[in-house]
Amino acid sequence: MEVPLILTQFLDRAVKLYGDKKAIINDDRVYTYRELNERVNQLSRGLSDLGVTKGDKVAYLAPNTVEMLEGFYGVFQLGAVMVPLNIRLTSEDYLYILNHSESRILFIDQELYHLIAPIKDQLDTVEDIIVHYHDGSCDERDYDEFLRSYSNREFEREYVEETDICSLLYTSGTTGNPKGVMLTHRNNYLHALTSMHHLRVDDEDVLAHVLPMFHVNGWGSPFYYTANGATQVCLRKASPESIVEAIERHGVTVMHMAPTVLNSLLQYYENNTPIFNQNIRVVIAGSAPPPSFVTRVEEELGWEFIQVYGMTESTPLTTISTIRSHFQDLPQEEQYRIKAKSGVQMIGTEVRVVNELGEEVAWNAKEVGELIVRGNGVMKGYWKNEEATRETIRDGWLYTGDMANVDEEGNIEIIDRKKDVIISGGENISSIEVEGALYEHPMVLEAAVIAVPHEKWGETPHAFVVSREGAEVTEEELIQFSRAKLAHFKAITGVTFVDELPKTASGKIQKVRLRHDYWESVGKSGRFV
Ligand code: ATP
Ligand code: MG
Repeated sequence: MEVPLILTQFLDRAVKLYGDKKAIINDDRVYTYRELNERVNQLSRGLSDLGVTKGDKVAYLAPNTVEMLEGFYGVFQLGAVMVPLNIRLTSEDYLYILNHSESRILFIDQELYHLIAPIKDQLDTVEDIIVHYHDGSCDERDYDEFLRSYSNREFEREYVEETDICSLLYTSGTTGNPKGVMLTHRNNYLHALTSMHHLRVDDEDVLAHVLPMFHVNGWGSPFYYTANGATQVCLRKASPESIVEAIERHGVTVMHMAPTVLNSLLQYYENNTPIFNQNIRVVIAGSAPPPSFVTRVEEELGWEFIQVYGMTESTPLTTISTIRSHFQDLPQEEQYRIKAKSGVQMIGTEVRVVNELGEEVAWNAKEVGELIVRGNGVMKGYWKNEEATRETIRDGWLYTGDMANVDEEGNIEIIDRKKDVIISGGENISSIEVEGALYEHPMVLEAAVIAVPHEKWGETPHAFVVSREGAEVTEEELIQFSRAKLAHFKAITGVTFVDELPKTASGKIQKVRLRHDYWESVGKSGRFV
């Protein structure tokens, strides 16, 4: 009989091989893999007692805590489906997602309960709310009491097919309404195998959960770090201070994070002496950072930098920028330049860049097309949205909506989201490329470039800039700087200085919001997506 690829196997392996090893560190609490498994069994029993069965949806609204992590396995033992919610949404968003997903149980961190209280009566399917870190201020169930009332002995699991859904992950909503992405056990299992291979995960690793586990980038990591018996440190907040503390206290070896968070760490170390345990072997980040950024991470912090590309719909990791052996003879600078690209396809995925006729573009680093993906990670579809599924997956290929090119070696460079491309006088301009040029200016801390209306050219690049503290920099200076770095038609024609940029919970800059507000402020429509 074929054994289905089910995610609970990863915890089984850890308990068997690394039972007494530190599994989770959550502030001052430490659990071994055996203890984690016992908590997971208690949770599964409790859920079963509440009537949760195979296919039921169980929602989580929590930052990175042990309670969140044990939820993964506690829910899967029942064959139920986890619906992790982004902690930075509004009450209306939660109302939409909880009803849309048909969630039956909601686990929530006390800190976030106020977001649910106002909509509680409108939740159509939620039968029970269970509060982590209950402080007595609401009359919902207390999670600790709930767990305590159940035995921690092995739980008899539901039989699950590998093609059954294990999670409904709502997309970041960077470009519009979040969509519920259906991922299966098989998607996540194979994604974990691929990731542990490419990231060389082993039992000596100490992972700091910096990326939120509710977001797809952080979602997959508990599987492959658990399977290999690594130690996982849960961070409630991704502030530089809490990351540095984890690095120093727990000897963290690996972190996955958004480049914006990595940027804030670089900033932190500019102002504080970096005396810390140099156990970090690698940091992994998505989102096209410029080569100068990669250089700083590797040279100033001494951390190996790996870039990955992916999306919720692909589980996510699809490409990875590891330097292949024959690149090692290349000069450092050239290596950094290659690492600033999203890299090559990971094992288990096929990646193509195709033009409008559906033909693969030449590997010359010039021709641009849409990135399409096929393989193990591709989602089952969008939950209750067949139309969007049909538009996104065509002939088995996932259309990412991201524009890219490929160099002679097969390295993929993400040029931009289709929707973020600026079309000026008929020329396509990558907002990422323009941002990359601005980031080279010493006074620029963060930059986001968007299309704004222009009488003659239709659109023109405009930058939103957060300057470094105490920095003196003018709009004219940045315009001239971008003209010196870029072809003139790509140079910015205006700057808005801001204190901060709008970001998603995973740290992505929401250009759609900047665009919307700008176009609305000048009384124009047409660029609201
Ligand atoms: P929504 O789909 O709801 O608008 P989103 O696309 O931001 O939100 P995610 O699935 O979290 O939701 O993000 C995937 C997107 O992030 C990709 O389609 C791509 O545009 C961007 N991205 C991810 N990795 C990289 C990378 N290495 N370089 C550039 N862009 C990246
Ligand atoms: Mg998307």
